[in-house]
Amino acid sequence: MDPLVTPIEYLKGVGPQRAELLRSELNVHTYIDLLQHFPFRYVDRSKFHRVAELHEEMPQAQLRGVLGPLRTMGEKQGRRLTATFSDPSGSVELVWFKGVRWLHTSLKPGQEYILFGKPNVFKGRFNFPHPELELAATWEKGLEAALQPVYRTTEKLTAKGLGSRAIWKLQKTALEQVAGHVPETLSSELVEWLGGVTRDMAFRQIHAPQDQARSDAAIHRLKFEELFFLQLRLLKQKLLLQHQLRGNVFTSVGQHFNSFYTEHLPFELTGAQKRVVKEIRKDMGSGHQMNRLLQGDVGSGKTLVGLLSMLIALDNGFQSALMAPTEILAQQHYATLARFLEGLPVEVRLLTGSTKAAERKSILAALKAGAIHFIVGTHALLEDRVVFQRLGLVVIDEQHRFGVAQRARLWAKSAVPPHVLVMTATPIPRTLAMTLYGDLDTSVIDELPPGRKPIRTVHRYDSSRNAVFGFMEEEITQGRQIYVVYPLIEEADPEKMNGQELKDLTDGFESITRRFPLPKYAVSMLHGRMDQATKDYEMARFKKGETNVLVATTVIEVGVDVPNASVMVIENAERFGLSQLHQLRGRVGRGGEQSFCILMTGEKLGNDARTRIETMVRTNDGFEIAETDLRLRGPGDLMGTLQSGLPELHIADLIADAGLLQQARQVAIRLLDLDPELRDPKHAAIATSLAERSKGKPLWGRIS
Ligand code: ADP
Ligand code: MG
Repeated sequence: MDPLVTPIEYLKGVGPQRAELLRSELNVHTYIDLLQHFPFRYVDRSKFHRVAELHEEMPQAQLRGVLGPLRTMGEKQGRRLTATFSDPSGSVELVWFKGVRWLHTSLKPGQEYILFGKPNVFKGRFNFPHPELELAATWEKGLEAALQPVYRTTEKLTAKGLGSRAIWKLQKTALEQVAGHVPETLSSELVEWLGGVTRDMAFRQIHAPQDQARSDAAIHRLKFEELFFLQLRLLKQKLLLQHQLRGNVFTSVGQHFNSFYTEHLPFELTGAQKRVVKEIRKDMGSGHQMNRLLQGDVGSGKTLVGLLSMLIALDNGFQSALMAPTEILAQQHYATLARFLEGLPVEVRLLTGSTKAAERKSILAALKAGAIHFIVGTHALLEDRVVFQRLGLVVIDEQHRFGVAQRARLWAKSAVPPHVLVMTATPIPRTLAMTLYGDLDTSVIDELPPGRKPIRTVHRYDSSRNAVFGFMEEEITQGRQIYVVYPLIEEADPEKMNGQELKDLTDGFESITRRFPLPKYAVSMLHGRMDQATKDYEMARFKKGETNVLVATTVIEVGVDVPNASVMVIENAERFGLSQLHQLRGRVGRGGEQSFCILMTGEKLGNDARTRIETMVRTNDGFEIAETDLRLRGPGDLMGTLQSGLPELHIADLIADAGLLQQARQVAIRLLDLDPELRDPKHAAIATSLAERSKGKPLWGRIS
């Protein structure tokens, strides 16, 4: 058996109980899993200090001394455990704020300990918050190192004696066991390019480095390897799609497209729109199925690009579907298309869950017969009874609300899979897009139509609410409409609903109603717990201009277009994430008037919240906002909101290692150019490792 995949319980020092914990706490099942549990930093444990030698600038210090009695101090929030720790040269104070009960049972006052931690000075005395302590009696000699790796561990593991040092010991045992059996995964050419660090060497030098330079080289090699295979998988997938999936060939741009473009289009396309339309035309004429992601900020004119693509499909004798995530958005798209196409011989229809039975019947028949050219709809389009005569293109708006499985159902509607264009207004930072959508082609509309006035964003404290009300009044007097949005986090799940937030919303509604009373004003409220009919009714009233102010939660649909709404007030703005703030702001600024976004917060703001607010005030650029969001929250969290999985990375970091990711992608592209099937014996190691890594793991982020 390959020693690398030996179950972890066979490793000396592990056994069944610890193995169970390693599996459940760290997802470590085998030797190789353990070896890939990489250290996150190194500390110098080669030297011992005396208390008398301590000074404040020391990043860490290691002492040997006796632990004094444990004392519980303070109350409630300030409750802590303290103890004195002394060596012959003096004494220091130890302090713990957490795990007090466990420390009481596990520490042995009066015994000699080895202490390691960061010395701080408090009231003229050295103290160590949460130091590492090990009984001197069981302290193992020979583990002292200038570069001792520190491993992530958990409270449960530590309680079973598997702290960072113990994990390190296991690593060393595992390294001995697998010595000489760690297969290389890269070509010798690449290994050489990476400074000659083989995989075997890399594992040894990361877990037991001889010096800083060698541990750095090992980290670099392992990060590169991880990112390289990530990109290789995505690029292989893309090649596969291109080779296996024939696409309908749209060769001509014909009469419909041309007469629309020259006679019906009320404005000039922006440069970015022209470029993207060209990219789409090229894709759809290539003979391969198009899988393209179109990113563009709210209001950048994606819908029009979708429409132009649909006209090309029509010119080539194919039907198109435009799918939106909600009924309201579908209606809006339908109205837009119908307006644009007025006077053209193009048959457009709308099909949603609320389409009446008789109408549905006639639509379904006409679709099957090919009499409908463009169908706009919601999930209702996915149903089996929706049959097309010749479906050639599917345009999906706001991609992250559709699951992969749902999109796959569209494929089944046509012998040759339709071209797919996915439009999203949720900007995805480039580094992340490369990973999440590395198998897709992406287009970006990075230019707004001319004449748009950038939204002015300001930050106001709750204490200046009266001034904000005054401003709202002015805008209403000029005929504008206003959104006031409250956070309501667990809205989808009433069980988990935060009562305070709901109260904030209803209190806010009441105070706005008092300030803007009937009959002069009309204020309405909208939130997720209202039934669908009421929600639709309130939304429609606002759209028609019958209400001045809409007090709502984030249910105000992504993409809803009310050009007359010019002010977006966001209450408790510190509680929203950046991308959500940006999405909400995108609800205004859709007409010709100057629009405003007012971010209301309390006086006290945490650092991250302050950065979010400042970013919003500074820029309207969705990509810049996405980059900041990514930095603040980390990729996993950001992706959570996009409802896509990210690959598990052991060592590389998509943000910090963005440059290396770029390099890895380039290397992977070059490799596949030279040897797309990886048949060259020189690439055998890469091919084997790639096959292993792909086993049973579906690719994330695929749209179809
Ligand atoms: P998105 O879907 O990207 O948010 P839309 O397609 O809804 O944006 O476009 C927003 C508004 O801008 C629409 O009213 C649309 O008609 C208009 N628009 C689109 N392209 C242009 C253009 N090139 N010049 C002027 N207005 C445009
Ligand atoms: Mg849109």
